[in-house]
Amino acid sequence: PRRGGSTRRGRSGDSLVTGPTQFSKADLDDLDAKLKGGGYVRRRRQDLRKGRGNTFQAQSAVQTGGKVEIEEPITIKSLSAATGIKATQIIRFLFGKGIMSTVNSAIDTELAEEVCIDYEIELVVKQQESAEEQVEKQFSEREKVDVRPRPPVVTVMGHVDHGKTSLLDRIRKEDVAAHEDGGITQHIGAYRVKMKGTDADGEAKSVVFLDTPGHAAFTTMRGRGAKMTDIVVLVVAADDGVMPQTIESINHAQAAGVPVVVALNKSDLPGATDDNVQKIYGQLAEHGLNPTAWGGETEVVKTSAASGEGVPELLEMLDLQAEVLELTADYGGPARGTTIEAEMQPGRGSVARVLVQEGQLSVGDFVVIGRSFGRVRDMTDDRGKRVKQVGPATPVELSGIDVVPDAGDKVFATDTLKKAEDVAEQYRDTEREQLLASKTKVTLDNFADAVKAGQIKELRVVLKADVQGSVETLRAQLGQMGNDEVAVRVLHAAVGGVTESDIVLADASDAIVIAFHVAIPSAVRDIAEQRSVDVRPYRVIYDVTDDIKKALEGMLTPDQKEEQIGVAECKEIFNITKVGTIAGCIVTEGAIIKEPSTRIRVERDGAVVTENRPLATLKRVKDDAREVRAGTECGIDIEGFNDVKPGDQLVCYRVVEVARTLDD
Ligand code: GDP
Ligand code: MG
Repeated sequence: PRRGGSTRRGRSGDSLVTGPTQFSKADLDDLDAKLKGGGYVRRRRQDLRKGRGNTFQAQSAVQTGGKVEIEEPITIKSLSAATGIKATQIIRFLFGKGIMSTVNSAIDTELAEEVCIDYEIELVVKQQESAEEQVEKQFSEREKVDVRPRPPVVTVMGHVDHGKTSLLDRIRKEDVAAHEDGGITQHIGAYRVKMKGTDADGEAKSVVFLDTPGHAAFTTMRGRGAKMTDIVVLVVAADDGVMPQTIESINHAQAAGVPVVVALNKSDLPGATDDNVQKIYGQLAEHGLNPTAWGGETEVVKTSAASGEGVPELLEMLDLQAEVLELTADYGGPARGTTIEAEMQPGRGSVARVLVQEGQLSVGDFVVIGRSFGRVRDMTDDRGKRVKQVGPATPVELSGIDVVPDAGDKVFATDTLKKAEDVAEQYRDTEREQLLASKTKVTLDNFADAVKAGQIKELRVVLKADVQGSVETLRAQLGQMGNDEVAVRVLHAAVGGVTESDIVLADASDAIVIAFHVAIPSAVRDIAEQRSVDVRPYRVIYDVTDDIKKALEGMLTPDQKEEQIGVAECKEIFNITKVGTIAGCIVTEGAIIKEPSTRIRVERDGAVVTENRPLATLKRVKDDAREVRAGTECGIDIEGFNDVKPGDQLVCYRVVEVARTLDD
């Protein structure tokens, strides 16, 4: 431990402002003379004479050490106020660590603790309840007024071209209400389909569909804590079968704990043979969706978006599932909901498309939606009709809010405009602070600590590999790796490069990403960095299992991290006798730098061809160069590798050692 030993508080001349009680009268006289009778010291001495010394400033922790309570988020100002350490000293300390800050900057808890070590102050960090959490609590604790069954909210997912869009279109056509009033559905992010028949209360039965198919949107919402979807409809083309995105969808649904109903679509096509259907049942069962036809739990409905066959049955099935899930909502009281999308509209200002989930939302209500607040000016439903009041499981577009909120933001009606404003204001503050303060995420390095702290019970993994064989092997090996305290859970495993969707899933689920022999495109790398998702490239299966084993045991040694410097694309190849192959390239990102420590990796069609190769020669036109920047052509000779081809991506990087932080 570094604490103990030298402290800064005793040093002379260090703290005239914070430590005047330490000065004797002689000291003060001395200082007074130096300052030529300047105001502060004289006032202070007068105070001492009048016996008001200790009321002027109580001793702060900076002088006494000990425990200090502080609320998150911690800013330099709040840390200074709580401890008595001067803000300028904190700023200087941070500057010494290469962090630029101002009094209003937020710093993370660990850093704040580090600041305090020298003063023998122990920080007791209290998590602050945000205004949003307070409002949310009020909602969950309020007395229920009118609880009744509600329609299910459904998201459609599946492999590209299996018919998601067509099926949603066909469902719109099946809508009983559409025939009644001839209304055309408007795009407001979701729509409610009325079915034949009524429920026990005599209400028309209906199903709500979220209009944005795709698992990325689904999981982004979940990552923001928004749970809207009750049931996932997984579209699988009956003439095709379970495909990579089908599996991805299944994994996203399962990670969210949302039940799946399968729509075996395109069943009108000749390719949708019984044999094929049986094959698909097998594939579904393999991925944890055992069809009821095989004695399992998963409902499979044969549909055709082309003919409409099976669509009423699918709606029926969704209604049935809603009953099984016992979906209810409070139809009375103030409204609560979730934002599906939001945008700026000319003439209308910020609009939010929201799904009301509880209570009644009326024109004139005060609302807070994430960072935005206001008074509902008007509302339109999914048929473009103006509405005055709506209840649970109803999508509406509303205007009257001051700024554009985010998809996934929660919507609350409040009793006063002031309350809505306060909550939005605090949301904006937190947003600003979070931009500054770094978020701690699960990584292989901090995993063991998180387990010790009781924060997590399993290590979640998103696995991408170059071939199916590796996917299977790794999945099997990882699956066996847990111990008594922690399990390893593979959320998603597939062939192919790391995609944005993988990062989104890992972010929402607090998982790490293992990239085995596959490329991580730099755009994806950027997103991972922004979201602090740990993406780890591997080449050898043993390294994966070894790292995970060590992470589970909390013994991971220093981590080697790749720091990308630049990317060049190979345009043509020059074969030069005695020299070998020179790749004629254009630098597309960053720069290619020739230094002893830089290495080159060659990527082709998303796969790694070779890596960790020194740069033998780097040329600009005819001359040797040390650095070639983006937009410039260059010639590259990779040491010990002659198999470059046009179209290859040559990634220039450095390997840096990231030491583990030393615990006390
Ligand atoms: P998505 O990518 O999943 O949204 O798929 P689309 O809805 O765009 O459909 C892809 C293609 O399949 C289009 O050409 C559709 O016309 C066709 N398609 C979709 N559903 C059916 C169906 O049930 N039967 C037939 N025959 N074609 C379909
Ligand atoms: Mg589509």
